[in-house]
Amino acid sequence: MHLTDIREKLAARPDLTRQLAQVKEQVATCIQCGTCSGSCPNAGFMDMTPRRMWRAVLTDRVDMVFSSQTFMLCASCYVCTLRCPRGLPLTGAMAELKQVAFGLNLDRFKRSTLFYKAFMDNIRQYGRVRETEMMARYFLAVKDPRVPMSYTGMGIKLMAKHKLHPHLPTWGPGRLAPLFDRAKQQER
Ligand code: SF4
Ligand code: SF4
Repeated sequence: MHLTDIREKLAARPDLTRQLAQVKEQVATCIQCGTCSGSCPNAGFMDMTPRRMWRAVLTDRVDMVFSSQTFMLCASCYVCTLRCPRGLPLTGAMAELKQVAFGLNLDRFKRSTLFYKAFMDNIRQYGRVRETEMMARYFLAVKDPRVPMSYTGMGIKLMAKHKLHPHLPTWGPGRLAPLFDRAKQQER
């Protein structure tokens, strides 16, 4: 993804530009101490450490930020938030970067976006995750038979351990719909 592509997409979405500016504000007093990187349980899997991610945000390197998978691998464990000596809301900032990436509809995050949507739709509907239905919806949305095939081994193992519990889907607005709608209103 070229810088101009991301800048153009951001320019077309003032809401996402504002959201990114808010993230920058949230980490404005970062002193680059690296405590977040040293504390993050997923840092070893990230292509850019959290400290570097905040540096890229602060220097407006949107190309670096959205070429990275780092925020997608954030498990929202809150360790960095608890340990940051400046008390910065880092977990929330990672979540905001995810939202901006989803909003920009970047090709490289398409599968993550569909997975996240299937997950959130499931929570909205049942108040918890029904794994089998969530994965079925995800596979349908991806429209690529190679994706479900890549999960075959895991599916067989789960089935052998009686961990798959298929349910018939239920329809309607969803158990947590009012909560979701309220959160959406507050985001505006
Ligand atoms: S722990 Fe806080 S101050 Fe230190 S690098 Fe991370 S965000 Fe910056
Ligand atoms: S909240 Fe995310 S970035 Fe922070 S330590 Fe946990 S996994 Fe790492």
